[in-house]
Amino acid sequence: MDSILLQDIMYLPGVGPNRKKLLSNELGINTYGDLLEYYPYKHIDRSKVYTIRELTGDMPYVQVIGHILSYETFQMGPRKERVVAHFTDGTAICDLTWFNGGKYAKQNYKIGQEYLVFGKPTVFNSRINFTHPELESVEVRTESVEFATAHEQALDGNAPGTAVANSKLYTLNSKLSLRPYYNTTEKMKKSGLTSHTLERLVKTLIDRLPTLPETLPAFITESRHLMSRDEAFRTIHFPPNTKELERARVRLKFEELFYVQLNILRYASDQRRKYRGYVFSTVGNVFNTFYHNNLPFPLTEAQKRVIREIRKDMGSGRQMNRLLQGDVGSGKTLVALMSMLIAIDNGYQACIMAPTEILAEQHLQTIMQFLKGMDIRVALLTGIVKGKTRQEVLDGLLDGTVHILVGTHAVIEDTVQFARLGFVVVDEQHRFGVAQRAKLWAKSLNPPHVLVMTATPIPRTLAMTLYGDLDVSVIDELPPGRKPVRTTHVFDSRMTSLYDGIRQQIREGRQVYIVFPLIEESEKSDLKNLEDGFEVLKQAFPEFRLSKVHGRMKPKEKEEEMQRFVSGETQILVATTVIEVGVNVPNASVMVILDAQRFGLSQLHQLRGRVGRGADQSFCILVTPYKLSEDTRKRIDIMCDTNDGFRIAEADLKLRGPGDLEGTQQSGMAFDLKIADIARDGQLVQMAREEAQKIIEDDPECQSARYAMLWQRLRDLRKTNINWAAIS
Ligand code: ADP
Ligand code: MG
Repeated sequence: MDSILLQDIMYLPGVGPNRKKLLSNELGINTYGDLLEYYPYKHIDRSKVYTIRELTGDMPYVQVIGHILSYETFQMGPRKERVVAHFTDGTAICDLTWFNGGKYAKQNYKIGQEYLVFGKPTVFNSRINFTHPELESVEVRTESVEFATAHEQALDGNAPGTAVANSKLYTLNSKLSLRPYYNTTEKMKKSGLTSHTLERLVKTLIDRLPTLPETLPAFITESRHLMSRDEAFRTIHFPPNTKELERARVRLKFEELFYVQLNILRYASDQRRKYRGYVFSTVGNVFNTFYHNNLPFPLTEAQKRVIREIRKDMGSGRQMNRLLQGDVGSGKTLVALMSMLIAIDNGYQACIMAPTEILAEQHLQTIMQFLKGMDIRVALLTGIVKGKTRQEVLDGLLDGTVHILVGTHAVIEDTVQFARLGFVVVDEQHRFGVAQRAKLWAKSLNPPHVLVMTATPIPRTLAMTLYGDLDVSVIDELPPGRKPVRTTHVFDSRMTSLYDGIRQQIREGRQVYIVFPLIEESEKSDLKNLEDGFEVLKQAFPEFRLSKVHGRMKPKEKEEEMQRFVSGETQILVATTVIEVGVNVPNASVMVILDAQRFGLSQLHQLRGRVGRGADQSFCILVTPYKLSEDTRKRIDIMCDTNDGFRIAEADLKLRGPGDLEGTQQSGMAFDLKIADIARDGQLVQMAREEAQKIIEDDPECQSARYAMLWQRLRDLRKTNINWAAIS
C-alpha cells in the first residue's frame, strides 16, 4: 500500500517530539496517513468578515477583524481566573473570554495589534462575547491606510462594514477562500497546537506527498463519476470551492462505505459456501395442529407473508439469517413460535432468547399458553434457573426431549448443549452482533437457522450495515382493532390534573404504568428518585394498590411484583425501564413517563408500546419540566405526532447520529468510519452496496485477478481494524 502514508509523523517538518506526543495522545495521529485522514470538521468561507455591530447571539461561527483595547482579569476561585479582552473593530466593542489559558492569551495577543478573531458569538451582559476564540494576527500591509479610511467611512455610515472588511481580507488571502477547521483538545490549545497549526501541518504534508495510488477500481470511479483518491485527499483539506469540497467528501465517504459493504457481503458469501443449512422440508403435524386447533385469532396478512418467507428460507438448503422488523405489538412472538413449530416438525429443537429475565419468563408463559394441550416440552433457562431444575433442563436439551428452550443470554454459554438445535430466535436484541451469532453455530453440526427480531425498526440503510448479512422481513400491519395510542405532553407543574386523569381511568377498570427514568440502574440517586416517587404516589392514590419494580430487585421479588400487576391485583405499576420490552398486560391503558426528557426516542416508543394492546383507547403521557432543550422538544413533538415506529427510528437516527446507536460498534462488521455517516449518507450506502454486490456475484470466491487489488485492500483494512477482531 501507500508506504509513504505509514511514515512516522515525527518526520514531518514542524513536528518535534512535543507535538508528536500531543498528536498521538490527543488525536491518535501517529503517521502521515493518520494526519491526512484527520479531516476538517468544517470550512469557513474566509472571504466573509463581519463587523461587530452586526453580530447577534444566534449566529454560527464568524470572523471579525480588530484590535484589543485592554485586558481585565476576574478571580473565580483560588486558582481560577477569567480573562476578558475588550476588542473593537471601530463599529462596536465585544469581549473575548478565556476561562482557561487566559495567561497564555494575555502574553500572546498584544493590545493594539490587529487580529482576525474566529468564534461563536453569544450575548453576555448585553454585549457580544466570544468564549475561547481563535486569534490570528493579521499582517498590516500598505492597505492599512485604506482600511482606516474605509473604517471611518463605515462609522459615518457611508459604506457597509462588511464590504470594508471583505476587501481588506481579500488582499490578505486571495489564494484560499475556504479555510479548514480541525477539532483540537484543551490540552492542545494550551500548548498552542491549534486548528491553525494543524492546517499548516496538513499543508506541509500535502505538498510533499507524491500522487497517491487509487484504491477503487476504475470502472467504479468512472461510472459513478468519483474524484480520484489523490485529488480527494488534497481537496478535502483545501478545496477551491464548495462544489469540489462536496465531490471530495462523496468520494471518501463512498470508499469507506464500499469497503464495509464488500466486507459484509464477502463474509456472508463465505458463510454460505462453508455451511449448509438444515433443510426443513415438511410442514407437519405440530404446525397444523396448532394452526387448526390452538391459534386463537386469524393471522394478519403481514404475519402470513413473513411466515411464508421464513418457511421458504428454511427449506432452501441454505442457512437462514433473517431480521424480522415489526413495531411493538405487531405479533412477532407468534411468528417466531410458528416458525419454531416447523423446526420441531422436522425433528429439530428450537430456542428463543430474550434480553431480560422478565421477558424470557413472559415468553415462556405466552408460549405455554399458546401450546396448551399439545405435546410439546418447553423449558426455561436463565441465570436464576439453578441446581436440580437447571440440570433437568440441560439433560432434556441433550437427550432431545426439550423441544423449545426459552432463555436469556445464558443460552449461549458453552455448557448448554443441544441434541439437534435447528432454529434460534433472538428477540429484541440490537446488541446481538455477528460474533454472538457465530457462537450459536458451535452448538450443532450445521449452524441453526437464525431469526433476529426487533421492535426498533432500523432504517434500511443502517440495517444494511448493522445486519448487512441478514435478509429482512417486515411486519407492517398491526392486529385488527388496535386503537392508536393517544400521546400528550404535560409539564410537571400540572401533576394534580394528571392524577385526576389516572384516577378516572382506574375507576373505569383500567391499569396504569408510571415510569421513572433510571438510565444507569446502578445510579443511587435514580433509585432514590424512584423510592421517593413511589411514596408520593402511594399517598396520592390511597384508594388503589401499587406495585413497584426496578432492575436492582431480586429476580424473584421482581417477578412477584410484576405478577401482582399482571393478575390485576394492583392497579398501578411504578417501574423503571425494566418494563421497556415485552411486558404484555392488555388491560393497561395508561403509560405515564416521568422526566421524559431523559429518555431517547426509541426508548419512549418502546415504553408506549406497552399500552394500546387491548380494545380500549390508550394514553401515553410524557411529563417534563417546563424548560426543555431544542432536541428534547423535537423528540417530544415527534412522539405526540406519530405512532409509526419507522418514522420515529428515522428521526432518532437523525437526531442522535448512528454513533450512539446500539450495535454499530458491536456489529463487528463496520470499519471505523471517519467521514461517512450511515444516518445521513443513505444514498451512498445504497450505491456502495450495489457495487459491492456486483463484485461478489462476479467473484464469489474472492479469487479473481480482476479484483485482486480490492481483496488485498480488504485484507489490509481488516488487519488494521480492531473491530474486526470480534469475528475472525
Ligand atoms: P411484539 O411484536 O411486540 O412482540 P407480541 O408478539 O407481543 O408483539 O403481540 C402483541 C399482542 O398481540 C399479543 O397479545 C398477541 O397475542 C397479540 N396478537 C398477535 N398476533 C395477533 C393477531 N393476528 N390477531 C390478534 N392479536 C394478535
Ligand atoms: Mg415482543
